[in-house]
Amino acid sequence: MKRIAVAGFQHETNTFAPTLAGYADFEEADAWPGLLRGGDVLRGLKGINIPITGFADAASAAGGYEIVPILWCTAEPSSYVTSDAFERITGMILEGIAGAGELDGIYFDLHGAMVTQDHEDGEGELLRRLRHVIGSDLPVVVSLDLHANVTPQMVEHASAINIFRTYPHIDLADTGVRAFASMQRLLTAGTLRKAFRQSPFLVPLTAQHTGSEPCRTLYASLERLEGETLFSADIAMGFPPADIFHSGPSLVAYAGTQGDADSAADTLLQSLLDAENRFDDRLQSPEDAVAEAMAHTGPRTVVIADAQDNPGAGASSDTTGLLHALIAGGAQGAVLGLLNDAEIAAKAHEMSIGAEFPALLGGKSGQQGQVPFKGRFRVEAVGDGEFTFAGAMFGGITAKLGAMAVLRVLDTSADVRVVIGSTRCQCLDQAIFRHLGIEPAEQRIVAVKSSVHFRADFEPIADKILVVEAPGAHPCRLDNITYRNLRPGVRLGPGRRPHLWAGGRSA
Ligand SMILES: [Zn+2]
Repeated sequence: MKRIAVAGFQHETNTFAPTLAGYADFEEADAWPGLLRGGDVLRGLKGINIPITGFADAASAAGGYEIVPILWCTAEPSSYVTSDAFERITGMILEGIAGAGELDGIYFDLHGAMVTQDHEDGEGELLRRLRHVIGSDLPVVVSLDLHANVTPQMVEHASAINIFRTYPHIDLADTGVRAFASMQRLLTAGTLRKAFRQSPFLVPLTAQHTGSEPCRTLYASLERLEGETLFSADIAMGFPPADIFHSGPSLVAYAGTQGDADSAADTLLQSLLDAENRFDDRLQSPEDAVAEAMAHTGPRTVVIADAQDNPGAGASSDTTGLLHALIAGGAQGAVLGLLNDAEIAAKAHEMSIGAEFPALLGGKSGQQGQVPFKGRFRVEAVGDGEFTFAGAMFGGITAKLGAMAVLRVLDTSADVRVVIGSTRCQCLDQAIFRHLGIEPAEQRIVAVKSSVHFRADFEPIADKILVVEAPGAHPCRLDNITYRNLRPGVRLGPGRRPHLWAGGRSA
């Protein structure tokens, strides 16, 4: 019986976002379960499409493996993870592993873009400390998000890395299955040689959709490359709203010989370089998008993506730029979700359905350039925020989003409703609207605070998808960003100008 310890510690850090991630943010349930320890890890995550569940299920199906669960936690993307949270959670993981008895391997379900108040490379620091405890020989397999900013330190300390191959991420459990295959390979045939390459240009999230070119072809090439000489290869598209030295796309390759790993990595890097001018990082103005949506005569919904206020990339999810544009553009049959304003959601719950009240909606998270939407609203529906996601990404997970409400904007000729929530949650699943009695496919315009993940559940009902540049803390026009820590020479988006200044970490 081989004994494998498993643990997960997930955070995607947007260093431009307004709020930190403290210990309580990892402890609490939101769209994901709260912090789980020991036997609760596998029980609490059973049946959920995430890597650690895929890994454990694959081990169970293979037989001959004992899984020793240590800890799993995640927090909604935000700015830096506090030192307190990082030290406490890392401490619990390392103590758990040190006390787990004789182990044959360790599997980590990590994101790969964690920046803490003290460490630009949270996962690399976690793995460095792990090696300090367990030494250099024990196999350590790591799975990462497609948005990982992979670093040389992560590659050095992990025996193998597997990365999601879909965005929207629908292959999370499958990535865990591939990580288990990496573990089996390491336990039966010994060390894998590794190669790591980094891209000389960044790619914003809006251009990373794996259903569009060039990502579709790049990702499809991975399975073809794997075979006799190459054990595995993966591409991370990176998480560019992280002002760190190693921000950006990268790739890893693992093979029995260094030559084969290097050769595969060079081939993949060349494919990425050749594809540079095919990444489309353009965004539409909210005003143009609303006009285009209103001019659309097809039978199905037009989806407008408020990509820069995507809480799944660390934004506040309470900006009102797109809402203002919907009203000013006279939008009809429009609904916008999910705008995070706990104060207004609570106020709506105190009232009866049909009640009307004046309010300042959204725009309260203190981000520069944000303004609340000042108006009168009618309460059309309320909900307790507890429902089950049904889309391909989160399907089966129970949401605990707190008080929610549907408010109709009054005193305007526009026909616009807003879905309000009390917890930041990316609008990537139709269940968010259905919880409040709104059927997305019956709306003329559905506006979502999401960059790409919404496509998994909303593309099937949409005639047209428009991605807009409204205010938000998830910048998608990278050449407008002032990076201080990024390595010099990296281009700020495909075909864009290079970053020239490395001025050191800002306060
Ligand atoms: Zn991701």
